[in-house]
Amino acid sequence: MLPTFVRSIPDGSEKGDFIALDLGGSNFRILRVKVSHEKKQTVQMESQIYETPEDIIHGSGSRLFDHVAECLGDFMEKQKIKDKKLPIGFTFSFPCAHTKLDEAVLLTWTKRFKASGVEGMDVVKLLNKAIKKRGDYDADIMAVVNDTVGTMMTCGFDDQRCEVGIIIGTGTNACYMEELRHIDLVEGDEGRMCINTEWGAFGDDGTLEDIRTEFDREIDRGSPNPGKQLFEKMVSGMYMGELVRLILVKMAKEGLLFEGRITPELLTKGKIETKHVSAIEKYARRLHKTVRRLVPESDVRFLLSESGSGKGAAMVTAWASRLADQTRQIAETLAEFRLTEEQLLEVKKRMRTEIQNGLSKNTQSTATVKMLPTYVRSTPDGTENGDFLALDLGGTNFRVLLVKIRSGKRRTVEMHNKIYAIPIEVMQGTGDELFDHIVYCISDFLDYMGMKNTRLPLGFTFSFPCRQTSLDAGILVNWTKGFKATDCEGEDVVSLLRDAIKRREEFDLDVVAVVNDTVGTMMTCAYEEPTCEVGLIAGTGSNACYMEEMRNIETVDGVEGRMCVNMEWGAFGDNGCLDDIRTQYDNAVDDLSLNAGKQKYEKMCSGMYLGEIVRNILIDLTKRGFLFRGQISETLKTRGIFETKYLSQIESDRLALLQVRSILQHLGLDSTCDDSIIVKEVCGAVSHRAAQICGAGMAAVVDKIRENRGLDHLDITVGVDGTLYKLHPHFSPIMHQTVKELAPNCNVNFLLSEDGSGKGAALITAVGCRLRQQEQKS
Ligand code: ADP
Ligand code: MG
Repeated sequence: MLPTFVRSIPDGSEKGDFIALDLGGSNFRILRVKVSHEKKQTVQMESQIYETPEDIIHGSGSRLFDHVAECLGDFMEKQKIKDKKLPIGFTFSFPCAHTKLDEAVLLTWTKRFKASGVEGMDVVKLLNKAIKKRGDYDADIMAVVNDTVGTMMTCGFDDQRCEVGIIIGTGTNACYMEELRHIDLVEGDEGRMCINTEWGAFGDDGTLEDIRTEFDREIDRGSPNPGKQLFEKMVSGMYMGELVRLILVKMAKEGLLFEGRITPELLTKGKIETKHVSAIEKYARRLHKTVRRLVPESDVRFLLSESGSGKGAAMVTAWASRLADQTRQIAETLAEFRLTEEQLLEVKKRMRTEIQNGLSKNTQSTATVKMLPTYVRSTPDGTENGDFLALDLGGTNFRVLLVKIRSGKRRTVEMHNKIYAIPIEVMQGTGDELFDHIVYCISDFLDYMGMKNTRLPLGFTFSFPCRQTSLDAGILVNWTKGFKATDCEGEDVVSLLRDAIKRREEFDLDVVAVVNDTVGTMMTCAYEEPTCEVGLIAGTGSNACYMEEMRNIETVDGVEGRMCVNMEWGAFGDNGCLDDIRTQYDNAVDDLSLNAGKQKYEKMCSGMYLGEIVRNILIDLTKRGFLFRGQISETLKTRGIFETKYLSQIESDRLALLQVRSILQHLGLDSTCDDSIIVKEVCGAVSHRAAQICGAGMAAVVDKIRENRGLDHLDITVGVDGTLYKLHPHFSPIMHQTVKELAPNCNVNFLLSEDGSGKGAALITAVGCRLRQQEQKS
């Protein structure tokens, strides 16, 4: 049961020009195999047989391999390919231990071979050494296979269902595709690998004694390897003639044959050859019949292999060389997504520069990271109290919430909410239509709660960049994510909401605060954990906020205390400062987006785009022939089809490849096992980079806070929300790790926010109401 490291049968996409060496059968042959791909896959072969004299087979190993190398040189000379380094497949039909496809340690010679100093050695090394010694040509041995494997591969070329190979010739042996999870010797559980059974040795431990006859024992005693290959000696061609002869001798002796006459010929060992027995025809038929009788539940078909050992070796070589080339090219592609620590530090540094630009008066108007003041001046102190309405717009769902906050010894927050759909035509229609729809939803919610007659204070979580001049005024700078309603950019969204409430003439509300979801998240966590002074969103979009010193916020009067700044860091890179790490795939995603050229950082690290990056890489790899048999399906062409939730599923450690395959199947992507491995790698590269650059941005923020406060060491909590952060299996740990590495002087604690945009908006509204009352008093 020797692993062969052959991982797949031919899939019909093999092509190229190969050399096959075939050593171990009755002849030593060298073949040139050209597999081409015009319309139909065709195989063209030329071969030559070389003598392998007895003295070479039984001489020293180095002499044997010198001979092989010499014949190979001669063959290449005749084929005029001595200057080409064609990939070579080596059919070496002896039991070998593989650790790779192109490494094969001979365990023991069998059949008539006996060259010294080869057992226990890697035959690829021996052959390479012999070729190097000659120095007149170069060779690239890609694969060593057994003749059984070659046979299976050859038949597999014509019929993909062929997953077993049997040799019944001089010797006998078999191989088959085994599930990798059953092969303890080889790492990995996914997919299959061909196992060379070496079943000729079956019975060597005595398990066949009850069926072996006196003739079998006599054959064994007279063989060069007594006690070995007992099954082979009962089954294969090398001994069949002799078996017949021994039986005939006995029958003659007993007078049952030849009138008891025993001729000298009959007593001559080897006189009867298997070809004389000439039972091949019947042998095959009997074999088929027996197999079918013993496994009636399986439908076994037998296919005769044509020049299995040569063509099959070429197939394995084609597969191996393509795999090697493909693996290299895919690795190169994905390497663009692996950022070095240096690059990440550079991202952190640039974020810091952009933060400064956003805060400073004279650069603020052109800054990409806008650093918008939120007029939230403090985190909650526990005295917040009352019933509040909250709206959450800008995420995947639009929600209306009623939040009941109770202060005192036992602080409680009770929430009721309802989700409403925002049809795409409303999202991308006029501003009035959008806000009328919002107010309609509020109306429905108030009916549902039976609260239409109270003038509730309302917090409006509006997760888009807004330039605020007070807690309850915010001018939309520009839409992001999927939104595109007209006549809103440049307008105060609170006024738009108030106007729509008036238009409806059904109820009244007191809009107290417009809130970004990052701020809501920070506030929600700060309510439980006072050290929380940063908010982070890793959901549809990516954004952060934190408590900045007033003296640093040049766009707001006053130098005392702190104010929360909505960074709008998603736009980081919009001035080209990330172009050196962006890839062609990021460009493609940007080009196809609603807001091309904008939110470049967000497009590298948020839920709305990760799947799209993956899809664009998959398209490219498919175009290059590495995936999905080179067929770009309609599915793959569909924008948004590869949602980020699939990344989470595919990258889940608990998921077997088969399940990855079924996810892809579900997406309409017909994938092989190898495809699934590649897709998983692609997903991993994309989400890994996303988590790292998000971490680099966060490292810039916490280090700035530390410096603001003149501390050598900062302990701080970041409140986080977002489905990408919550559900992706690797995003959060990698992000945490990156922050740790890039901001070593900060001890950053991440706290998951529970419903930041709802609860947070209510808390901010509560704080707003309290401040208002204080103002009125004074
Ligand atoms: P939002 O950011 O819109 O307020 P969420 O935080 O729920 O809302 O994020 C939703 C986004 O998260 C979706 O647009 C999608 O990109 C991504 N997402 C959804 N499911 C998953 C998942 N299982 N794993 C990772 N990301 C997901
Ligand atoms: Mg959200």
